Amino acid sequence: LIQLSVPLNFIGFVYREIRQGLTDIEQMFDLLDVKAEVVDKPDAKPLAIAQGAIRFENVHFAYDPERPILKGISFEVPAGKTVAIVGPSGAGKSTISRLLYRFYDIQQGAITIDGQDVRDITQTSLRSVIGMVPQDTVLFNDTIAYNIRYGRISASEDEVLKAAEIAQIGTFIRSLPDGFKTMVGERGLKLSGGEKQRVAIARTILKAPPILILDEATSALDTTTEQEIQSALDLVSQNRTTLVIAHRLSTVINADEIIVLRHGEIAERGTHAALLEQNGLYASMWNRQREATQAEEHLRQVRESD
Ligand code: ADP
Ligand code: MG
Repeated sequence: LIQLSVPLNFIGFVYREIRQGLTDIEQMFDLLDVKAEVVDKPDAKPLAIAQGAIRFENVHFAYDPERPILKGISFEVPAGKTVAIVGPSGAGKSTISRLLYRFYDIQQGAITIDGQDVRDITQTSLRSVIGMVPQDTVLFNDTIAYNIRYGRISASEDEVLKAAEIAQIGTFIRSLPDGFKTMVGERGLKLSGGEKQRVAIARTILKAPPILILDEATSALDTTTEQEIQSALDLVSQNRTTLVIAHRLSTVINADEIIVLRHGEIAERGTHAALLEQNGLYASMWNRQREATQAEEHLRQVRESD
């Protein structure tokens, strides 16, 4: 018994670590055949998806009872709309995406999709309607084609190519000696953060889920890469219910609603224009980021003129 408990604890540890990272959940559940802590109700039904409207109603959540993380969060992402969540790091933004995926159960309130509580439906059906483009994509040790097709295994070769084009990674892939057959992952060609993210976007395009969660990269991607990724993301999120966790405010200007989260509470909410007008937390974050971008731009010009 003692001998057995060590590896089991270890697996639990690895599982929690990986889950914490929320790198690529869909993939992770396949890679690690581990039971989640959250279990389906005996009478859980598959989600009857209509338009994919998301609703958080007075959601309270804590990983550890001593330390509340979300303190009564309410918002809606109407079907087909885009809602952005911004705010300082540690505010609870990624936690919201983990709860929508039902990695954890909340302590109070409700999270519903098309009126169905996520606790009443099967996890498989819940996760099948959500596509996630994480901050940090872990690729399989396999070909690029496989890594894209993973979004929908039954996809044709043509569909894989098209998805890659839309995700703006097609040209790059075709420039490789082995093209779509190039081995990637830990033991293959190492892709940059931006390239991996575009593979994840291509995968999500193939999956074509009604609901999208985008956790944008924090890492300073160069401006061109960022713009390419942004236009790919804009395409994927068209007419899909989309929850964007944004680090760069410039990427959420067009969101239908922006929610500013601070210490697990909604500090401000509204459109970009309305929030700037309020001249509060969002406006100060916006000004700070704009100054940083201008400083970066200035530095680049100085370097180029050398
Ligand atoms: P954000 O995405 O806004 O930066 P997170 O939602 O990742 O913030 O985290 C919110 C808070 O919850 C942070 O203080 C973080 O340390 C804490 N937290 C995240 N995951 C866990 C966990 N598994 N156990 C305990 N605390 C956690
Ligand atoms: Mg986060």
